Amino acid sequence: MRSNPKQIIILGGGFAGVYAARYLEKLLRSNEASITLINRENYWVYQPMLPEVISGSIGLTNVVSPIRRLCPRTNLIMREVEDIDLDNQIVTISPGFRPRQLQLTYDQLVIALGNITNFHGMPGLMENAMPFRTLADAMALRNHLIHVLEEADVEEEPELRRQLLTFVVGGGGFSGVEVMAELNDFVCSVKRNYLCLRNEPHRCVIVQAANRILPEMSEPLAMSAQRILRKRGVEIILNDRLKAATSERAILQSGTEIPCKTLVSTVPSALPPVIQKLNCPKEHGKLLVNTGLELKDYEGKVWALGDCASIQTVAGTMVPPTAQHAIREAATAAINIAAAIRGGRRMEFEFESLGTFGSLGHGSAVAQILGVKVSGLLAWLLWRCIYLMKMPGLNRKVRIAADWLLHLLFPPELAQTKVAFESGIRNQHFEPGDIIFRQGDLGDSVYVIEEGECEALRVQKGQPELLATLGRGEYFGEMALLSDRTRNATIRACNAMNVLIIPKGDFNKLRQSVPAFGNVFAELANERAVAGSTHSSVEPHPSNN
Ligand SMILES: Cc1cc2nc3c(=O)[nH]c(=O)nc-3n(C[C@H](O)[C@H](O)[C@H](O)COP(=O)(O)OP(=O)(O)OC[C@H]3O[C@@H](n4cnc5c(N)ncnc54)[C@H](O)[C@@H]3O)c2cc1C
Repeated sequence: MRSNPKQIIILGGGFAGVYAARYLEKLLRSNEASITLINRENYWVYQPMLPEVISGSIGLTNVVSPIRRLCPRTNLIMREVEDIDLDNQIVTISPGFRPRQLQLTYDQLVIALGNITNFHGMPGLMENAMPFRTLADAMALRNHLIHVLEEADVEEEPELRRQLLTFVVGGGGFSGVEVMAELNDFVCSVKRNYLCLRNEPHRCVIVQAANRILPEMSEPLAMSAQRILRKRGVEIILNDRLKAATSERAILQSGTEIPCKTLVSTVPSALPPVIQKLNCPKEHGKLLVNTGLELKDYEGKVWALGDCASIQTVAGTMVPPTAQHAIREAATAAINIAAAIRGGRRMEFEFESLGTFGSLGHGSAVAQILGVKVSGLLAWLLWRCIYLMKMPGLNRKVRIAADWLLHLLFPPELAQTKVAFESGIRNQHFEPGDIIFRQGDLGDSVYVIEEGECEALRVQKGQPELLATLGRGEYFGEMALLSDRTRNATIRACNAMNVLIIPKGDFNKLRQSVPAFGNVFAELANERAVAGSTHSSVEPHPSNN
């Protein structure tokens, strides 16, 4: 009986990561392996149904499932993966409430971090285009749509009203088409609730770089999808792509400009930054693995699957980035990890697609199953049945089926679920004795004292030494940010204190845009560094207020 279980770390809680954990839980006993999954959310998103959140035909929380329930024997860490050291087998994850990174070592590593929408080299897209991958993206788009409809209803200037009623989606693959289909359905069905918009036309445009939409499907089905969408009033611009955007318009490669206030982009994709910086073989911009899903040069220890991996089947077919493939890859990787730990049969990835579905909303879809092509209502019913069956857990299945039924009986929900996004710069209150940060913590913010006093302490040879007492109008915490080192002192509130907290990101933006602001802190850090070589490096300094 094995006494020290092998440490398996899975990075990513999407289709590939969650299914890998589920299969590993079945294959390995707890005395053989301890499984840890790291994901930035504590839930798994059923992405194929995500577009339905736009129209509200599926409730927000029914399209996701808590990872703890899906993988009951797996330790979930809800944090950001910041660094992977393949040579020393260490994963570094972001700080939580306590500003300290966590480092975990592994025997087996599964990289399943998916991909991201990359707006690099496309001016204005980052600021003005909405990606569509996560639950937050779907919520943001739904709220935005309601917002522009509300604005269009009161807007008297015809040009601005037209702009508010124009919706552009960049990308004509599955996700782009499904997003547009749901968006168009939603706008069509709720317009009647806006007194001034009932007879007002709206414009929906898909921009696709290829010469047809749905390149994942056969040509006749893609043409059929194009016909269905065009019949519903969706414009499809082919052989063109998004080049740039402003808050007023989408700008295409051909020079065409589309005035709009809603721009969604589902393309292009790139690896998450933490994988981009890995120095290991990549192909087509993804992690290169063999048919056993082992990362090249790290065979037997590191496995990559899902959208972040470049995989070929045994027959030599390039594996597309889909959920059905990710699930099968997870099974293959789990069998091979179990074999690497305790010996036994290994597997090679040989799954070829069973079929593809594309939902076009409004009771129609296109489908290609085991070579048979179907479109219209039958395809839509098949789409719903198959995806419902694939949703894990009876609980979620029943909730989704109930949502669909209610959606057939009643008009879509039109309430906006506004979430107030606070600025990163915020106020905070501390009581006497509270620790604001500790020596050794990562530098994540700069602090300005608005009320009260605090003391800076440094522990040396086990003894705390008082370095300085800081009061109203003084600031602290800049040294660790400017030098990218950990905190060199602990700050403790002496009495009730109110501070203004400027997080690292905002601090750096302000430093870059307002040089005078940056200079104040750079000079202060220098003064403190000089003073620190003799005694204190957190000497008090007055702020400008
Ligand atoms: C709108 C949409 C519709 C789709 N429709 C279909 C469909 O109908 N059929 C189909 O087969 N496929 C569909 N797909 C594709 C399918 O969803 C993906 O192929 C599949 O989700 C890939 O799984 P994955 O595990 O590789 O990545 P993901 O599911 O993207 O999971 C990656 C996970 O890693 C996490 N992560 C990333 N970076 C970090 C980090 N640094 N730290 C911590 N966590 C991190 C993410 O939060 C995420 O949870 C669709 C995709 C989208 C976006």
